[in-house]
Amino acid sequence: MAVLVGRGVRVKLIKCRIYLNRALSFLMTRNKGSLYEICHKLPKVETHCHLYGTICKETITYFNNRAGKPFTDEQIERFYIRGTKPVGVLAIFRGLDSDLIKFPQDLYRITKEHLAVAKSHNVIYIELSWNPTGTVLESKIPFASAQKAIHDAMIDSEAEIGIMSRLICAIDRQAEPEKAAQMLDWMLESPSPMTIGIGIDYKEDGFPPQLFEDTFKRAKSKGYKITAHAGEFGMPWNNIDYVANIIHADRIDHGYTIIDNRELVDQFLEEQRPISVVPTNSYYLRLFDPEEWAQKHPIRKMIKLGLNIYPNTDDPSFHCVEPTKAWMMMVECFGATIPDLKRFAYNAIDSAWVDKDLKSKWKQDCDKYFQSL
Ligand SMILES: [Zn+2]
Repeated sequence: MAVLVGRGVRVKLIKCRIYLNRALSFLMTRNKGSLYEICHKLPKVETHCHLYGTICKETITYFNNRAGKPFTDEQIERFYIRGTKPVGVLAIFRGLDSDLIKFPQDLYRITKEHLAVAKSHNVIYIELSWNPTGTVLESKIPFASAQKAIHDAMIDSEAEIGIMSRLICAIDRQAEPEKAAQMLDWMLESPSPMTIGIGIDYKEDGFPPQLFEDTFKRAKSKGYKITAHAGEFGMPWNNIDYVANIIHADRIDHGYTIIDNRELVDQFLEEQRPISVVPTNSYYLRLFDPEEWAQKHPIRKMIKLGLNIYPNTDDPSFHCVEPTKAWMMMVECFGATIPDLKRFAYNAIDSAWVDKDLKSKWKQDCDKYFQSL
Protein backbone atom coordinates (compact mmCIF):
# COMPACT_ATOMS: atom_id res chain seq x y z
CA MET A 1 0.00 0.00 0.00
CA ALA A 2 2.75 2.34 1.05
CA VAL A 3 4.43 1.54 -2.26
CA LEU A 4 1.18 2.30 -4.17
CA VAL A 5 0.71 5.63 -2.34
CA GLY A 6 4.33 6.47 -3.04
CA ARG A 7 3.83 5.71 -6.71
CA GLY A 8 0.67 7.89 -6.80
CA VAL A 9 2.51 10.78 -5.21
CA ARG A 10 5.34 10.36 -7.67
CA VAL A 11 2.88 10.42 -10.60
CA LYS A 12 1.28 13.58 -9.20
CA LEU A 13 4.70 15.15 -8.75
CA ILE A 14 5.65 14.31 -12.33
CA LYS A 15 2.34 15.77 -13.59
CA CYS A 16 2.92 18.87 -11.45
CA ARG A 17 6.39 19.23 -12.90
CA ILE A 18 5.01 18.93 -16.46
CA TYR A 19 2.36 21.59 -15.77
CA LEU A 20 4.96 23.82 -14.09
CA ASN A 21 7.32 23.48 -17.04
CA ARG A 22 4.49 24.25 -19.46
CA ALA A 23 3.54 27.33 -17.40
CA LEU A 24 7.15 28.49 -17.22
CA SER A 25 7.66 27.98 -20.92
CA PHE A 26 4.41 29.89 -21.62
CA LEU A 27 5.57 32.76 -19.39
CA MET A 28 9.01 32.78 -21.00
CA THR A 29 7.50 32.84 -24.48
CA ARG A 30 5.09 35.58 -23.45
CA ASN A 31 7.88 37.63 -21.86
CA LYS A 32 10.07 37.07 -24.88
CA GLY A 33 7.20 38.23 -27.07
CA SER A 34 6.70 41.37 -25.05
CA LEU A 35 10.42 42.13 -24.98
CA TYR A 36 10.38 41.82 -28.77
CA GLU A 37 7.44 44.21 -28.90
CA ILE A 38 9.10 46.69 -26.56
CA CYS A 39 12.33 46.69 -28.56
CA HIS A 40 10.59 46.64 -31.92
CA LYS A 41 8.19 49.52 -31.29
CA LEU A 42 10.81 51.63 -29.51
CA PRO A 43 11.74 54.62 -31.72
CA LYS A 44 15.43 53.85 -32.25
CA VAL A 45 18.49 55.82 -33.29
CA GLU A 46 21.43 53.93 -34.81
CA THR A 47 24.85 55.45 -35.42
CA HIS A 48 27.09 52.44 -36.00
CA CYS A 49 26.14 50.63 -39.17
CA HIS A 50 28.38 50.01 -42.19
CA LEU A 51 26.66 50.39 -45.53
CA TYR A 52 28.42 47.35 -47.01
CA GLY A 53 27.46 45.32 -43.95
CA THR A 54 23.79 45.77 -44.76
CA ILE A 55 23.71 44.05 -48.17
CA CYS A 56 21.10 41.33 -48.30
CA LYS A 57 21.79 37.92 -49.86
CA GLU A 58 19.58 38.53 -52.91
CA THR A 59 21.42 41.72 -53.79
CA ILE A 60 24.91 40.33 -53.28
CA THR A 61 23.92 37.31 -55.37
CA TYR A 62 22.76 39.63 -58.13
CA PHE A 63 26.04 41.59 -57.99
CA ASN A 64 28.04 38.34 -57.89
CA ASN A 65 26.25 36.85 -60.91
CA ARG A 66 26.65 40.10 -62.81
CA ALA A 67 30.40 40.06 -62.12
CA GLY A 68 30.77 36.51 -63.44
CA LYS A 69 30.72 34.80 -60.03
CA PRO A 70 34.02 35.77 -58.35
CA PHE A 71 32.44 34.11 -55.28
CA THR A 72 30.93 30.65 -55.46
CA ASP A 73 27.30 30.18 -54.40
CA GLU A 74 28.59 28.28 -51.35
CA GLN A 75 30.77 31.20 -50.33
CA ILE A 76 27.82 33.58 -50.60
CA GLU A 77 25.73 31.19 -48.47
CA ARG A 78 28.47 31.11 -45.83
CA PHE A 79 28.55 34.92 -45.62
CA TYR A 80 25.05 34.74 -44.15
CA ILE A 81 25.65 32.00 -41.58
CA ARG A 82 26.63 33.14 -38.11
CA GLY A 83 28.22 30.24 -36.25
CA THR A 84 29.30 30.32 -32.61
CA LYS A 85 32.83 31.18 -33.80
CA PRO A 86 32.09 33.46 -36.75
CA VAL A 87 34.71 34.57 -39.23
CA GLY A 88 35.04 38.32 -39.65
CA VAL A 89 33.34 40.20 -42.44
CA LEU A 90 36.25 42.36 -43.60
CA ALA A 91 37.13 39.98 -46.47
CA ILE A 92 33.60 40.33 -47.85
CA PHE A 93 34.01 44.10 -47.92
CA ARG A 94 37.23 43.76 -49.92
CA GLY A 95 35.42 41.59 -52.46
CA LEU A 96 32.62 44.14 -52.74
CA ASP A 97 35.18 46.84 -53.52
CA SER A 98 37.24 44.82 -55.99
CA ASP A 99 34.56 42.86 -57.83
CA LEU A 100 30.93 43.41 -56.94
CA ILE A 101 30.12 47.12 -56.59
CA LYS A 102 30.46 48.67 -60.03
CA PHE A 103 28.02 51.54 -60.50
CA PRO A 104 26.55 54.45 -58.50
CA GLN A 105 23.13 52.81 -58.75
CA ASP A 106 24.53 49.83 -56.79
CA LEU A 107 25.14 52.20 -53.88
CA TYR A 108 21.69 53.71 -54.33
CA ARG A 109 20.16 50.23 -54.22
CA ILE A 110 21.91 48.97 -51.08
CA THR A 111 21.28 52.23 -49.22
CA LYS A 112 17.60 52.25 -50.08
CA GLU A 113 17.18 48.57 -49.25
CA HIS A 114 18.68 48.94 -45.81
CA LEU A 115 16.78 52.11 -44.95
CA ALA A 116 13.57 50.17 -45.66
CA VAL A 117 14.72 47.39 -43.31
CA ALA A 118 15.69 49.89 -40.61
CA LYS A 119 12.34 51.65 -40.94
CA SER A 120 10.53 48.33 -40.54
CA HIS A 121 12.22 48.09 -37.12
CA ASN A 122 11.17 51.62 -36.14
CA VAL A 123 14.60 53.15 -36.58
CA ILE A 124 13.82 56.86 -36.84
CA TYR A 125 17.35 58.01 -37.64
CA ILE A 126 20.50 56.26 -38.83
CA GLU A 127 24.04 57.38 -39.59
CA LEU A 128 25.50 55.03 -42.20
CA SER A 129 29.28 54.53 -42.53
CA TRP A 130 30.86 54.16 -45.95
CA ASN A 131 34.51 53.64 -46.95
CA PRO A 132 35.06 55.84 -50.04
CA THR A 133 38.69 54.75 -50.54
CA GLY A 134 37.74 51.28 -51.81
CA THR A 135 34.77 52.56 -53.80
CA VAL A 136 36.85 55.14 -55.64
CA LEU A 137 40.14 53.29 -56.05
CA GLU A 138 38.90 49.70 -56.43
CA SER A 139 35.36 49.98 -57.77
CA LYS A 140 36.41 52.98 -59.87
CA ILE A 141 33.33 55.03 -59.05
CA PRO A 142 34.23 58.72 -58.64
CA PHE A 143 33.62 60.06 -55.12
CA ALA A 144 31.10 62.73 -56.12
CA SER A 145 28.83 60.36 -58.04
CA ALA A 146 29.13 57.62 -55.40
CA GLN A 147 28.29 60.04 -52.61
CA LYS A 148 25.39 61.48 -54.62
CA ALA A 149 23.91 58.02 -55.18
CA ILE A 150 23.91 57.33 -51.44
CA HIS A 151 22.50 60.78 -50.67
CA ASP A 152 19.77 60.34 -53.30
CA ALA A 153 18.71 57.07 -51.68
CA MET A 154 18.65 58.78 -48.28
CA ILE A 155 16.59 61.72 -49.56
CA ASP A 156 14.17 59.45 -51.43
CA SER A 157 13.75 57.17 -48.40
CA GLU A 158 12.98 60.09 -46.12
CA ALA A 159 10.38 61.36 -48.60
CA GLU A 160 8.85 57.95 -49.27
CA ILE A 161 8.93 56.13 -45.91
CA GLY A 162 9.90 58.80 -43.38
CA ILE A 163 13.28 57.60 -42.12
CA MET A 164 15.99 60.22 -41.63
CA SER A 165 19.62 59.34 -42.34
CA ARG A 166 23.04 60.89 -42.77
CA LEU A 167 26.40 59.69 -44.09
CA ILE A 168 29.78 59.19 -42.41
CA CYS A 169 32.87 58.73 -44.59
CA ALA A 170 35.13 56.22 -42.86
CA ILE A 171 38.89 55.90 -43.12
CA ASP A 172 40.13 52.47 -44.23
CA ARG A 173 42.86 52.15 -41.59
CA GLN A 174 44.56 49.31 -43.49
CA ALA A 175 45.26 51.71 -46.36
CA GLU A 176 48.12 54.23 -46.15
CA PRO A 177 47.52 57.42 -44.14
CA GLU A 178 47.82 59.39 -47.41
CA LYS A 179 44.65 57.64 -48.61
CA ALA A 180 42.82 58.96 -45.55
CA ALA A 181 44.01 62.48 -46.37
CA GLN A 182 42.88 61.92 -49.96
CA MET A 183 39.44 60.83 -48.74
CA LEU A 184 39.09 64.06 -46.77
CA ASP A 185 40.15 66.04 -49.85
CA TRP A 186 37.35 64.37 -51.81
CA MET A 187 34.87 65.25 -49.07
CA LEU A 188 36.00 68.88 -49.10
CA GLU A 189 35.77 69.04 -52.90
CA SER A 190 32.17 67.73 -52.82
CA PRO A 191 30.72 69.07 -49.56
CA SER A 192 27.15 68.22 -48.62
CA PRO A 193 25.02 68.67 -45.51
CA MET A 194 24.16 64.97 -45.83
CA THR A 195 27.78 63.94 -45.10
CA ILE A 196 28.33 65.02 -41.53
CA GLY A 197 31.44 63.33 -40.23
CA ILE A 198 34.33 60.96 -40.57
CA GLY A 199 35.01 57.64 -38.94
CA ILE A 200 37.67 54.95 -39.03
CA ASP A 201 37.28 51.20 -39.30
CA TYR A 202 38.78 47.92 -40.58
CA LYS A 203 41.47 46.08 -38.65
CA GLU A 204 42.65 47.98 -35.56
CA ASP A 205 45.51 45.59 -34.74
CA GLY A 206 48.63 47.04 -36.40
CA PHE A 207 46.80 50.15 -37.62
CA PRO A 208 46.46 52.43 -34.57
CA PRO A 209 44.61 55.77 -34.71
CA GLN A 210 47.90 57.67 -34.33
CA LEU A 211 48.58 57.02 -38.03
CA PHE A 212 45.67 59.26 -38.99
CA GLU A 213 45.99 62.13 -36.52
CA ASP A 214 46.57 64.78 -39.21
CA THR A 215 43.46 63.81 -41.15
CA PHE A 216 41.29 63.71 -38.04
CA LYS A 217 42.51 67.12 -36.90
CA ARG A 218 42.01 68.62 -40.36
CA ALA A 219 38.50 67.13 -40.56
CA LYS A 220 37.66 68.59 -37.16
CA SER A 221 38.95 72.00 -38.23
CA LYS A 222 36.64 71.83 -41.27
CA GLY A 223 33.61 71.23 -39.09
CA TYR A 224 33.18 67.47 -39.46
CA LYS A 225 32.19 65.36 -36.49
CA ILE A 226 34.43 62.42 -35.59
CA THR A 227 33.73 58.87 -34.55
CA ALA A 228 36.37 56.15 -34.28
CA HIS A 229 36.49 52.39 -33.90
CA ALA A 230 38.76 51.89 -30.88
CA GLY A 231 39.19 49.14 -28.33
CA GLU A 232 37.80 46.57 -30.80
CA PHE A 233 39.48 43.17 -31.46
CA GLY A 234 40.83 43.26 -27.88
CA MET A 235 42.98 46.30 -28.71
CA PRO A 236 44.01 48.17 -25.55
CA TRP A 237 42.30 51.07 -23.81
CA ASN A 238 45.18 53.33 -24.93
CA ASN A 239 43.56 53.56 -28.37
CA ILE A 240 40.31 54.75 -26.78
CA ASP A 241 42.23 57.24 -24.64
CA TYR A 242 44.03 58.51 -27.73
CA VAL A 243 40.95 59.08 -29.89
CA ALA A 244 39.09 60.64 -26.96
CA ASN A 245 41.83 62.94 -25.68
CA ILE A 246 44.12 63.67 -28.63
CA ILE A 247 41.81 63.42 -31.62
CA HIS A 248 38.79 64.58 -29.56
CA ALA A 249 36.39 62.12 -31.16
CA ASP A 250 32.77 63.00 -30.51
CA ARG A 251 31.98 59.36 -29.90
CA ILE A 252 33.68 55.98 -29.82
CA ASP A 253 32.64 52.82 -31.68
CA HIS A 254 33.00 49.56 -29.70
CA GLY A 255 35.30 50.87 -26.93
CA TYR A 256 35.15 47.61 -24.96
CA THR A 257 38.62 47.72 -23.39
CA ILE A 258 37.76 50.95 -21.59
CA ILE A 259 36.74 48.67 -18.71
CA ASP A 260 40.46 47.95 -18.15
CA ASN A 261 41.18 51.53 -17.08
CA ARG A 262 39.16 52.97 -14.19
CA GLU A 263 40.49 56.49 -14.73
CA LEU A 264 39.29 56.50 -18.35
CA VAL A 265 35.93 55.07 -17.28
CA ASP A 266 35.56 57.94 -14.77
CA GLN A 267 36.39 60.47 -17.48
CA PHE A 268 33.79 58.98 -19.83
CA LEU A 269 31.23 58.91 -17.03
CA GLU A 270 31.88 62.54 -16.21
CA GLU A 271 31.75 63.67 -19.85
CA GLN A 272 28.97 61.21 -20.76
CA ARG A 273 30.88 60.58 -23.97
CA PRO A 274 28.89 58.13 -26.13
CA ILE A 275 30.11 54.64 -27.00
CA SER A 276 28.22 52.70 -29.70
CA VAL A 277 28.41 49.03 -28.74
CA VAL A 278 27.66 45.97 -30.86
CA PRO A 279 26.15 42.95 -29.05
CA THR A 280 26.98 40.66 -31.99
CA ASN A 281 30.66 41.68 -32.21
CA SER A 282 32.62 38.80 -33.75
CA TYR A 283 35.74 39.11 -31.59
CA TYR A 284 34.11 38.15 -28.30
CA LEU A 285 32.10 35.37 -29.93
CA ARG A 286 35.41 33.89 -31.07
CA LEU A 287 37.23 34.61 -27.80
CA PHE A 288 34.77 33.12 -25.31
CA ASP A 289 32.99 29.79 -25.26
CA PRO A 290 29.25 30.04 -25.90
CA GLU A 291 28.41 29.11 -22.26
CA GLU A 292 30.47 31.96 -20.80
CA TRP A 293 30.26 34.51 -23.62
CA ALA A 294 27.36 36.56 -22.24
CA GLN A 295 28.75 36.57 -18.70
CA LYS A 296 32.24 37.64 -19.72
CA HIS A 297 31.30 40.12 -22.44
CA PRO A 298 32.50 43.67 -21.64
CA ILE A 299 29.07 45.12 -22.52
CA ARG A 300 27.70 43.51 -19.34
CA LYS A 301 30.24 45.45 -17.27
CA MET A 302 29.76 48.64 -19.30
CA ILE A 303 26.04 48.57 -18.43
CA LYS A 304 26.83 48.16 -14.72
CA LEU A 305 29.38 50.98 -14.82
CA GLY A 306 26.71 53.30 -16.23
CA LEU A 307 28.75 54.20 -19.31
CA ASN A 308 26.93 56.12 -22.05
CA ILE A 309 26.35 53.12 -24.33
CA TYR A 310 23.61 52.03 -26.72
CA PRO A 311 23.26 48.98 -29.02
CA ASN A 312 23.95 48.98 -32.75
CA THR A 313 23.89 46.44 -35.56
CA ASP A 314 27.34 47.18 -37.13
CA ASP A 315 27.07 44.76 -40.11
CA PRO A 316 23.48 43.58 -39.73
CA SER A 317 23.30 41.25 -42.73
CA PHE A 318 26.53 39.40 -41.95
CA HIS A 319 25.95 39.40 -38.16
CA CYS A 320 22.45 38.00 -38.82
CA VAL A 321 20.95 40.70 -36.64
CA GLU A 322 18.49 43.53 -37.04
CA PRO A 323 17.92 46.58 -34.82
CA THR A 324 15.17 44.98 -32.71
CA LYS A 325 17.35 41.94 -31.96
CA ALA A 326 20.40 44.09 -31.09
CA TRP A 327 18.30 45.89 -28.46
CA MET A 328 16.80 42.62 -27.17
CA MET A 329 20.28 41.16 -26.73
CA MET A 330 21.14 43.90 -24.24
CA VAL A 331 18.41 42.44 -21.98
CA GLU A 332 18.57 38.76 -22.85
CA CYS A 333 22.37 38.40 -22.93
CA PHE A 334 23.81 41.18 -20.82
CA GLY A 335 21.26 41.69 -18.04
CA ALA A 336 19.97 45.15 -18.99
CA THR A 337 16.60 46.19 -17.55
CA ILE A 338 13.73 48.13 -19.11
CA PRO A 339 14.96 51.38 -17.40
CA ASP A 340 18.37 50.59 -18.96
CA LEU A 341 16.69 50.41 -22.39
CA LYS A 342 15.29 53.89 -21.80
CA ARG A 343 18.76 55.08 -20.85
CA PHE A 344 20.21 53.52 -24.03
CA ALA A 345 17.50 55.21 -26.12
CA TYR A 346 18.44 58.58 -24.60
CA ASN A 347 22.16 57.84 -25.10
CA ALA A 348 21.58 56.99 -28.77
CA ILE A 349 19.66 60.25 -29.28
CA ASP A 350 22.40 62.25 -27.53
CA SER A 351 25.06 60.60 -29.69
CA ALA A 352 23.32 61.55 -32.95
CA TRP A 353 24.79 64.40 -34.96
CA VAL A 354 21.58 66.38 -35.31
CA ASP A 355 20.42 69.68 -33.84
CA LYS A 356 19.20 70.10 -30.27
CA ASP A 357 15.55 70.73 -31.17
CA LEU A 358 15.29 67.44 -32.99
CA LYS A 359 16.94 65.62 -30.08
CA SER A 360 14.44 67.22 -27.67
CA LYS A 361 11.54 66.08 -29.83
CA TRP A 362 12.89 62.53 -30.06
CA LYS A 363 13.37 62.45 -26.28
CA GLN A 364 9.79 63.56 -25.74
CA ASP A 365 8.62 60.79 -28.05
CA CYS A 366 10.85 58.37 -26.16
CA ASP A 367 9.33 59.48 -22.82
CA LYS A 368 5.83 59.02 -24.16
CA TYR A 369 6.74 55.58 -25.43
CA PHE A 370 8.12 54.35 -22.11
CA GLN A 371 5.21 55.90 -20.19
CA SER A 372 2.86 53.93 -22.42
CA LEU A 373 4.43 50.60 -21.51
ZN1 LIG B 1 31.88 48.83 -36.98
